[in-house]
Amino acid sequence: MADGSALADAHDEVVIDREDEPYRWRCPNGHTTWDRTNSHLWCPSCRRSMEQQGRWSIMQVESAEHWEIVDEKTGETIPYAAVRFAEDA
Ligand SMILES: [Zn+2]
Repeated sequence: MADGSALADAHDEVVIDREDEPYRWRCPNGHTTWDRTNSHLWCPSCRRSMEQQGRWSIMQVESAEHWEIVDEKTGETIPYAAVRFAEDA
């Protein structure tokens, strides 16, 4: 498996099945509601946080777009380039 991008090569491929474990895979801010785009993920919950947060917000969300997915089970952060979706198989 050496034909992927450099980023994917740096991490073992991870197969994600969101239907099987919908609460395991999270955006870096802990949401499970993210959507896939071409090369990264987009999180409507982050988008909403960005719109609603004021200067007193505890969590400062800087972007609704992410290039990493967090595995809630292991706490590991997985680069999007290393992710494969079971639904694509
Ligand atoms: Zn999010």
